Amino acid sequence: MPDYKMDKIQMVDLKGQYLKIKPEIDNALLKAVEDAAYINGPQVKQFTESLKSFNKVAAAITCANGTDALQIAMMGLGFKPGDEVIVPAFTYIATVEVIALLGLIPKFIDIREDTFELDYTQLEALISDKTVGVVPVHLFGQCSNMEAVLAVAKEYKIAVIEDTAQAMGAQYIYGDGTTAFAGTIGDIGTTSFFPSKNLGCFGDGGALLTQNVELGEKVQIIANHGQRKKYYHETIGVNSRLDNIQAAILDVKLRYLNHYSESRQKVAEKYDESFKDLTELIIPNRAKYSTHVFNQYTCKVKNGKRDKLKAYLHEKGIPTMVYYPVPVHLQEAYLVYGYKKGDYPVAERMCDEVISLPIHTEMKIEVQEFIIENIINFFNKDGK
Ligand SMILES: *Cc1c(COP(=O)(O)O)cnc(C)c1O
Repeated sequence: MPDYKMDKIQMVDLKGQYLKIKPEIDNALLKAVEDAAYINGPQVKQFTESLKSFNKVAAAITCANGTDALQIAMMGLGFKPGDEVIVPAFTYIATVEVIALLGLIPKFIDIREDTFELDYTQLEALISDKTVGVVPVHLFGQCSNMEAVLAVAKEYKIAVIEDTAQAMGAQYIYGDGTTAFAGTIGDIGTTSFFPSKNLGCFGDGGALLTQNVELGEKVQIIANHGQRKKYYHETIGVNSRLDNIQAAILDVKLRYLNHYSESRQKVAEKYDESFKDLTELIIPNRAKYSTHVFNQYTCKVKNGKRDKLKAYLHEKGIPTMVYYPVPVHLQEAYLVYGYKKGDYPVAERMCDEVISLPIHTEMKIEVQEFIIENIINFFNKDGK
């Protein structure tokens, strides 16, 4: 086995991904620079159309990042300070941050241990007369059970905002076998084009997707200072734009998104197959209602061995990440909402058990084999 410490194994290989499509990206970039329409230029318009047709959605609106997309969605839905929004206790902070920033009240919901999604069986009990929405987060690249969420949301007339930042290109599979893209099923879906997301640009970027044309128009206006016509402001908005240069890159990369998803799935399948006999490492569950596009390959480590495994792999030059070490309700800034340890036991335990392994579109087989061999060694001898 060669020593990959020198090669530096990465969680994500953005450079390798770029090099494979360098001429196309470079041409698109150069064209955007030469066009010199840097804000809302032709590339933004083109990418918006591509995004819309890829996702088979009535409206796509680009914005500056995935966090803004969530905020704009909640503004577009007319949420008012004091309204309650149900959100998983185990997610990236952005999902909850915008709720707090808008003066809304986050009502946390525990997650399911198998798929890390919000525990939809607890949803109904959390709804009060102040509840206006719920945010299923399609964590790590797999859709939440949207039919379960929508059934409750419809009954209580609350809005559904899909946080699709980690699941662009994943397909939701309905009970009858038909499919729809992640982010196009609830009232509105939000996504991020942060470089390490499945569809990433070379900086920040985000978008909203909706089948509701009227809501699409509203969020479009909000994202642009609340104006439909320049200098006439009909609502309070924000300044949140996708750069033309980023749109040029994204329009090229969107054509490869399905191919990228397949590459990630191939890596995931090899990990699955290699680890299936380990009893202390639980491989990611595949929900029957979703494809999985593996923004992360996240395992659970049993018997308190997570940190030991992480240190062991680090020693061998293998990076791993813990998404996320602290649940949102126990984050210092969010203690003001009055939650305490023990309130969301699954979310809390997952923070101690999860580990995400390197996965990306350019994974070399010998590198993955080196990672696998070391993980198996840890559980079979070195970690005993
Ligand atoms: C990345 C991410 C966001 C925020 O996206 P940014 O573009 O970084 O603002 C929101 N929610 C989830 C689940 C994410 O992973």
